[in-house]
Amino acid sequence: MAATRLLPPQDYADRLVGAVHRLPSTLIAIGDAHGRVLAEDVTARHSLPGFDNSAMDGYAVRAADVPAPGTTLPVAGVIPAGDTRQVRLEPGTAWQIMTGAAVPDGADAIVQVEHTDGGTEQVRFDVAAVAGTSIRAAGGDVQAGALVLPAGTRIGARHVPVLAASGRAEVPVVPLPKVALISTGDELRSPGEELDHGQIIDTNGPMLAALVRQAGFEVARVDRCGDTGDAVRDAVDAALAAGADAIITSGGVSAGAFEPLKAAFEGGTEVEFSKIAMQPGKPQGFGFVRTDVPLFALPGNPVSSLVSFVVFVAPALRVMAGRSPQIGWMTATVADGWRTPDERTQLARVRLEHRGDGHFATASGGPGSHLMGGLSTADGLAWIDAEIDEVRAGDRIRVIGLDGELV
Ligand code: AMP
Ligand code: MG
Repeated sequence: MAATRLLPPQDYADRLVGAVHRLPSTLIAIGDAHGRVLAEDVTARHSLPGFDNSAMDGYAVRAADVPAPGTTLPVAGVIPAGDTRQVRLEPGTAWQIMTGAAVPDGADAIVQVEHTDGGTEQVRFDVAAVAGTSIRAAGGDVQAGALVLPAGTRIGARHVPVLAASGRAEVPVVPLPKVALISTGDELRSPGEELDHGQIIDTNGPMLAALVRQAGFEVARVDRCGDTGDAVRDAVDAALAAGADAIITSGGVSAGAFEPLKAAFEGGTEVEFSKIAMQPGKPQGFGFVRTDVPLFALPGNPVSSLVSFVVFVAPALRVMAGRSPQIGWMTATVADGWRTPDERTQLARVRLEHRGDGHFATASGGPGSHLMGGLSTADGLAWIDAEIDEVRAGDRIRVIGLDGELV
């Protein structure tokens, strides 16, 4: 068989990131917008605060009427938060007022209740009032029409208050890709099913669903199919019918006698199969079905599937969601060294220890890409360049954390 040139993994990742497109924007209720990227600038419909209001529970006065400690004024009434009356303060009187209530016309200071006797008929002040004290001025936070969040902002909890307060019920966002997962293999059974000789549990379906969610996207459907091209085609049709924006398959892309992804797509124009200079994760497929839905065909071994998701699929899905594809690598120091494969980039599972002086990495589990025990104790993936054949204690390496959002 002719030797095929293996593609460097970064080139392959770049190819996928360059091929996908951001999803068209939609309106979403502010309460559901978290995690999405704003598709347009958002400006304030009205000023914040919308009216002068009290920063304290206390008394609204004219400062000139409370020139010295010991002053007593009659109390005209009480203004709770949410009171919609237009209240006027007559000279020589005070209104009791609560935090957030509109300051009455004519008042220029709030004296907090702790500096008074708390009276309801009349009130005695322990301090002189100073004009402007404890009044939150209309527009003091945000002016009407001002830009509150620029397009491209990924909406986190901290952005929600200003969006809601600026007068919007919905905002235009890039939606989260809805991803359909298809596990291929005649040997697979669902978790909980009895196994016959030669059968195994489908671990990739639930794992990839968890990865999709962990990376901040949505799961459209989790499916399983047998080892024929027709079975794959049917599962892809079902994924499209379920409204999937992207499809991830696992298994059926290597060199065996029953490779259903290849049976379904090889020789066609939709999906291209590649060999990557990476361990694990060498055989990969990528293309578009129904012209615009990306299909990522990952190898079947669970560790290979996980690694392929993290380094190839997640960056592409981030682009579809309007985000940067960039992986947020951290730097770690090798605690115990290991040997790495020749001429292939290794994505090594590592355990990370966080000490005062940084992150320290130790290999977790053996090199086999079927080993799930070592995977569960790994909390990072180390990217070891192809030229390196041995990692030594003290080396500085790039690691992506597996417990966060996979960025
Ligand atoms: P394949 O790429 O289909 O040849 O699969 C490679 C190895 O991964 C085989 O040992 C498969 O049984 C195993 N495998 C494939 N798909 C899954 C899956 N969904 N869950 C667990 N193991 C799988
Ligand atoms: Mg298979």
